[in-house]
Amino acid sequence: MTVYLVGAGPGDPGLLTARALELIAAADVIVYDRLIPASALDGARADATLVYAGKEGGGESMPQAEISRLLVAHGSLGATVVRLKGGDPFVFGRGGEEASALREAGVAFEVVPGVTAGVAGPAYAGIPVTHRDAASAVAFVTGHEDPDKPSSALDWEALARFPGTLVFYMGVRQLRSIAASLVACGRDAAEPAAVVERGTLPGQRVVAGSLGTIADEAAAGGVRAPAVVVVGEVVRLRERLDWFGVVRPLGGLTVAVTRARAQASALADRLRRLGAAVVEAPAIRIVPLDGPAMSISGYDLICLTSPNGVRILFERLLAAGGDARVLAGARVAAIGPGTASALRSHGVVADVVPPERFVAEGLVEALAGVPVSRALVARAAEARDVLVEALRARGAAVDVVALYETVAEPLSEAQVAAVCSSDYVTFTSSSTVRFLLQSLGDGARLGGRLVSIGPVTSAALREHGLEPDVEAARHDIDGLVEALLADAVSGE
Ligand code: SAH
Repeated sequence: MTVYLVGAGPGDPGLLTARALELIAAADVIVYDRLIPASALDGARADATLVYAGKEGGGESMPQAEISRLLVAHGSLGATVVRLKGGDPFVFGRGGEEASALREAGVAFEVVPGVTAGVAGPAYAGIPVTHRDAASAVAFVTGHEDPDKPSSALDWEALARFPGTLVFYMGVRQLRSIAASLVACGRDAAEPAAVVERGTLPGQRVVAGSLGTIADEAAAGGVRAPAVVVVGEVVRLRERLDWFGVVRPLGGLTVAVTRARAQASALADRLRRLGAAVVEAPAIRIVPLDGPAMSISGYDLICLTSPNGVRILFERLLAAGGDARVLAGARVAAIGPGTASALRSHGVVADVVPPERFVAEGLVEALAGVPVSRALVARAAEARDVLVEALRARGAAVDVVALYETVAEPLSEAQVAAVCSSDYVTFTSSSTVRFLLQSLGDGARLGGRLVSIGPVTSAALREHGLEPDVEAARHDIDGLVEALLADAVSGE
């Protein structure tokens, strides 16, 4: 019935408004631009029509008249239409033109303001655009125009005199002439200035200097759109007020996650929260193996060596009409805290978990004082035999059940390229090493630092002629993140 002109905020998905999310979820048609958060459309209905109206790089975008025509057409057919734009729809977003076209055609519309990049970008850089002592006004200015052109709609002398902060949108390409024009019209070349690139996004970068130096600094840093340029005394506050860089120690870094898709999200989320841009490149996939209906009775020890093993064991038990009670008579051992927590989620508290070294050798040690006569080791088909052999050497009868196998998950060319150019590549098992290198092929070279979860994974890297740069001291996801973080912070 209505066309909603909706702001999607500057990029951080957390800055989408509640109203924007509600409308995205309800829309029949969504016409969206390039600069919207990557996940903004995740909540759209599966049957919604999504129309991309932005431009790629310097390429052609859909002409404005065509976009307006599309909104009018869908709107007058009675559809719920969301026109989703980066930032705020009425700040350099041509939302005013679209609203006019809708009004002219008699199509009802509503405007949902968004968080604009000119406020949010500086805020995420620790720069308040106004400040009681430093700026009592702020001007939002288009930097799209060449100030040297006589036709420029901007009054540069007035801007130079403006008593407050200037924030330029779309100003990266013209930065040099913007700064020069302001200085030529009398603004102090020593006034602080900053460029905030990809503000609020994981790749946010800030280049700061003065009006006199900012163009050189931005050029040296290779700053590209989207970026806002802030000119004013408020830029100085960044030294004290930067917070994004503090809470996001991995900001600006790309980290590749190679573990299986189903397990990747916990690690990817942790890394994202620390500010990293995550490349998801699942090199492996876990395939449950069909096995005979399981009988677990008669064992005094049951060993589980991965969270996947736990999940699949319980799937098999349930399929056979059983549940956690079949484990009742036995001691249950887990190789590490991840496996123990998977057991806990099925109502079983592990009796034995190594205090450190979450590898087979650690479990063997932890079991040293535990009496065992008949053991079941439930694990991956391709697992090492360390545990089984150690138990047998102690005189125990050991059965092994292969619950799943790990197979290669092919990666796209784009994924391979992204992994190769990542700053860090994380390996959480020897199979991630083996299968990732297999998918990369001969020509591909990993450019980033290699992070291994523990000695077994490190050995797999060395087998392939690669030296891990970082090895976790605790062999689980927390330990891996901790080690990566320590490395990133020390390398700064
Ligand atoms: N309506 C948008 C602005 C669209 S014009 C808003 O209110 O934010 C596009 C310009 O917005 C870009 O050239 C850049 O100057 C700015 N911009 C958009 N997203 C940005 C971001 N994440 N970081 C810095 N600048 C951004």
